[in-house]
Amino acid sequence: MAPDTNELLRSLPSVSALLEHEEVVEWLNGVPRATVVEALRMAVDTARDRIAAGEHDEPIDVEELLAAAETELVRRSIPSLRRVINATGIVLHTGLGRAPLSDAAIEAIAEGASGYCNLEYDLEGGKRGKRNAHVVEKLIAATGAEAATVVNNNAAATLLILQTFAAGREVVVSRGQLIEIGGSFRLPDIMRAGGVTLREVGTTNRTRLSDYESAIADDTGILFRAHTSNYRVIGFTEEVSIADLSALAQRRGLIAVDDLGSGVLFDPKSVGLPDEPCVRESIAAGADLVCFSGDKLFGGPQCGVIVGKSELIRRIDSNPLMRTYRVGKLTLLALEATLDAYVDADAAVESVPALAMLRASTEELAERAQALCDLLAEGLADEHFFVCSAVGYAGGGSMPQRELETVVIQWRPSRVRVDDMAAALRNADVPIIAHIRDDAICFDLRTVLDGDFEWLVSSVLAAVWDADGGEAEDDEE
Ligand SMILES: *Cc1c(COP(=O)(O)O)cnc(C)c1O
Repeated sequence: MAPDTNELLRSLPSVSALLEHEEVVEWLNGVPRATVVEALRMAVDTARDRIAAGEHDEPIDVEELLAAAETELVRRSIPSLRRVINATGIVLHTGLGRAPLSDAAIEAIAEGASGYCNLEYDLEGGKRGKRNAHVVEKLIAATGAEAATVVNNNAAATLLILQTFAAGREVVVSRGQLIEIGGSFRLPDIMRAGGVTLREVGTTNRTRLSDYESAIADDTGILFRAHTSNYRVIGFTEEVSIADLSALAQRRGLIAVDDLGSGVLFDPKSVGLPDEPCVRESIAAGADLVCFSGDKLFGGPQCGVIVGKSELIRRIDSNPLMRTYRVGKLTLLALEATLDAYVDADAAVESVPALAMLRASTEELAERAQALCDLLAEGLADEHFFVCSAVGYAGGGSMPQRELETVVIQWRPSRVRVDDMAAALRNADVPIIAHIRDDAICFDLRTVLDGDFEWLVSSVLAAVWDADGGEAEDDEE
């Protein structure tokens, strides 16, 4: 007869007894005692719960408890936030950290953050300086604006602009531009948070200058344009240009704001990239303030850049809220180094990874796909990997309707279900995030870096071995 619950519970060793076990004594050489104690306690508690729930009817085996504790120790030793391989082909993938940084930006962070830096120190005068001063001049040069400032992200930039110039007043926006970006940024909500009243004008597909004109009242503060970053209204449409909107704002003593989202610093068409509004053009067209993200098409660290008229930037900088949105030194180090890559468009598309990936030709991608395919085939003779063309997207709320022709490696695992394999890949030592299409796993070479190849191959090998372990159960079905 099976032992009863009380007997089983009594058979559970105590944590202090386990701490004497020779295997555990070994662990204590490399792992802090408190961590080992916690892992052991967790293993014992789990076993106790299972016995109490009637899920375990044999005496607990010490080896089993130690294995559970060891798994927990391993789990704790892996950082939660870590490097993954983006095989989705989505270059500006918000879930995967948007733009990867350039070598220069990484070096700047490593160098500047490994010791002290002159973050808020004026070396010439030997006195307290301003943190944004390190990038202001370069932002001005890159955009043609009079002045510039930097905050934590573009959502903060938008909110700060609204709060500074239109709190308690009205902001006029076209109905076709009431954007939502990734769920947490919805323009109407940001307007409310900034204490401004949203005045919608026009219709979803057509808004004319006269719509803005007739909406202007005594308490209007801003004429706001938001770039429809992640969608396009196409067909029977009409939008007011930033030039016309800015001219209207000027005539009526208002401020024209252009939220570009993914502001690019040069004409993207000039280097074979899909069209997106350029910051310099907005400024030249007369926008009073332009804001954009640092980690979208600009290809730098997460931040929000605001450029525009000196007097307005000065007022933003002196808003007490500015202190709550200020960026850290890591951001500024990376931002300055990324700006330095923009000496000209050709230099930028070479050294800014997001731009280089977006511009990669299908020939180039096919060549790299073949090289990776050969490596995979070498390691896994029983599996079949195919190079084929596919359609991808930029992502990160950029270039929405522009499909990017791309090249993928397609793989239908021979012995496991595709979604089980995708899960195993996500849980590999270097996790691989890949799409499933046509019941096959796809590795899109646009976002798989050359430096990822070795990791990708070993993660795939490990996932196949792991999945093979689970395969026996599948076969019994
Ligand atoms: C992406 C985007 C934002 C938000 O920018 P974050 O940097 O993600 O905060 C705001 N406005 C537009 C138009 C965008 O495309």
